[in-house]
Amino acid sequence: TSNSEVIQNLIDGNVLAARALALAGVRHMFGVVGIPVTSLATQSVALGIRFIAFHNEQSAGYAASAYGYLTARPGVFLTVSGPGCVHGLAGLSNSAANSWPAVMISGSCDQRDFGKGDFQELDQIAVVRPFVKFAAKATEISQIPHLVLSALSHALEGRPGGCYLDLPTDVLHQKISEEDAARILAEAENPRVRVVENLVSSLDIEKAVGLLRNADRPLIVFGKGAAYARAENSLKKLIETTGIPFLPTPMGKGLVPDSHELASTAARSLAIGGCDVALVVGARLNWLLHFGEPPKWSNDVKFILVDISKEEIELRKPYLGLVGDAGTVLDLINKEIKDDPFCLGKSHPWVEAISQKAKVNVLKMEMQLAEEVVPFNFFTPMGIIRDAILAQGSPYPILVSEGANTMDVGRAVLVQNEPRTRLDAGTWGTMGVGLGYCIAAAVASPDRLVVAVEGDSGFGFSAMEVETLVRYQFPVVVIVFNNGGVYGGDRRNPDEITGPHKDDPAPTSFVPQAAYHILMEAFGGKGYLTEKPEELKSALFESFSFRKPAVINVIIDPYAGAESGRMQHKN
Ligand code: ADP
Repeated sequence: TSNSEVIQNLIDGNVLAARALALAGVRHMFGVVGIPVTSLATQSVALGIRFIAFHNEQSAGYAASAYGYLTARPGVFLTVSGPGCVHGLAGLSNSAANSWPAVMISGSCDQRDFGKGDFQELDQIAVVRPFVKFAAKATEISQIPHLVLSALSHALEGRPGGCYLDLPTDVLHQKISEEDAARILAEAENPRVRVVENLVSSLDIEKAVGLLRNADRPLIVFGKGAAYARAENSLKKLIETTGIPFLPTPMGKGLVPDSHELASTAARSLAIGGCDVALVVGARLNWLLHFGEPPKWSNDVKFILVDISKEEIELRKPYLGLVGDAGTVLDLINKEIKDDPFCLGKSHPWVEAISQKAKVNVLKMEMQLAEEVVPFNFFTPMGIIRDAILAQGSPYPILVSEGANTMDVGRAVLVQNEPRTRLDAGTWGTMGVGLGYCIAAAVASPDRLVVAVEGDSGFGFSAMEVETLVRYQFPVVVIVFNNGGVYGGDRRNPDEITGPHKDDPAPTSFVPQAAYHILMEAFGGKGYLTEKPEELKSALFESFSFRKPAVINVIIDPYAGAESGRMQHKN
C-alpha cells in the first residue's frame, strides 16, 4: 500500500467482498486459500467471520452444503481458481442434488490474460452452470457487493440450492475509495428470503384433509425438505391428532422421534405397499421412495405432495399437489382438521397391522444385535454404537453416516430422536462427504457431539481432514468400519483371477486392517483400535466423554458385508 493510497483511503476487491459477506450476516466460511483469494479469507476473518480451512475444496464444499441444510443459511465456501473451482464442483453438485443452499466463491485468472493460457485459467462460469441456480462474475470491483448479496439470496429462494460467484484476480486487486465502498455496500440489497407466495388454496387444503379423513390406510411420509423447513412441530401435531402412521426418509428421521409409537420405519414395506393415501411432505418421489410406483407402492395410492417447488409437483403429477413451505402447509392442514378432528386410534386395523409388523421386525433385529459376533459383523458394533449414542441423551449427537453396508445397517439400527441429527450420502449417494459433514455439524451445532459412522472406503475419500478436526479441536468422533476395502476387500475366487495383472490387489481392496487410528494420532488426536465389544464400548465411553477429535478403528470381518450393500441389482 503506497502512501498516496492511505491518504486517499483506498480498499481493494478482497476487502470489499469480505465486507459484503459480513454485511449479509455470513458467520462461517469453509475453503482452501491460495492465489488469488488468500486475502479475501484473512479480511473476512478480520471482520468476525470464522474461516474453516480445509485440505481439499471437495470437503469444504460438502461442509458448506450440509451447513446450509443444518442452519437454513447458505453455506459459503471459497476456492482458488481453475483446479480449485473444479474440486469445489463436488460441493456445488451435492448442494444441487440435495436442494441445500450454498454459495461457492472462486477466484479466477486475470480477465486481460484469459485465453492466453494464464495461470489456472478456466471458464468457470461455464463449468459451474449445470449445478447452480445463479452464477455471476464480477467484472468490476463496484459489482462485488450486489453480486455477493444476490448469490446468497438466490441460494435460499424457493427450492434451495447452490450458487456461484466468480472474482477475477484483477477485480480483487482493483481499488476504490472508502466513500464509494460505503455507498455501494449500502445500495446492495440485503439478502431477503423472499416469502414464497402461498399457492395453496383453502379448497386444496380441504381436499387434502378430506382425503386423509376418508382413507382406510393413510400414511404420512416426510423427508429432509420438511427438516430443512423446520416443520417438526407441525408434523408432530398432525400425526398425534390424527393417529396416522408415519415414515421418515433417511434424513427425515428424527423430525418425529424414531421411538414414537406411530413410527412405521420397521414396517416400511407394509406401510408403503399397503397405504391408500400418502401425504408426502418435503421428500421427492425419486429412487429413495421407489418413484412412488408399483410394485413397492400400490397401483392406486393417492399421493398428496407438499413441496416448495412447483416443478417438483408438476414432474410427479400427484393426485393432489400443494406448493408451499412444509410448515405453513401443515399448519393450514392442522387448522382445517381442528374444526372437525378425527383420530384413527390404536385399535384401527391399519394402525394395528403396522404396529404389529414393526414390533416383530424390531424384535428380530434386537435378537441379531444381542448376539456378540467376533470377528465383528456389521450388527454387533452398530448395536453398541447405538446404545452409546442414546446414553448421551438430549441434545443428542449429530450422526454422520456413509458407506454401503455401514450406512445401510446404520440406517436400520441407529435411532434418531431429534430433528436434523442425521447426515448421510443423501439423494446423490455421495460417498466422501463424511469429514466435511462432521465439520459442518460441529460448526453449526456447537452444543452437540458429532459421531461419524462410516465405511473405510467412505472415510478414505477425505481422511486427511482429520487434521482439520484436530486443528480446530472439534468434538467429532469418527468411527471407521474397517473391512479392508469397498464392500469388503478382496473376495474373489482365486481360480477366477487371470491375466497379466492377476497379482495386483483386487479393485475393491485396500491394505487389510489399515491402522486408521494412527492416522489420527499423527496430528495429535486420539486413536483407538477395537476388535472386541469391550474394547469398542470403552473407546466410545472415553471419546464421547472427552469430546475431542478421535478416530475409532473398528475391525470388521471382510466377509461380513454384501457387495453394493442393498443395491446389488445396480452393480
Ligand atoms: P429426501 O431425500 O429426504 O426424500 P428430498 O431431497 O428428495 O428429500 O426432497 C426434499 C424436497 O423438499 C425437495 O423436493 C425440495 O424442493 C423440498 N423442499 C425444500 N424446502 C422446502 C420447504 N421449506 N417446504 C417444503 N418443501 C421443501
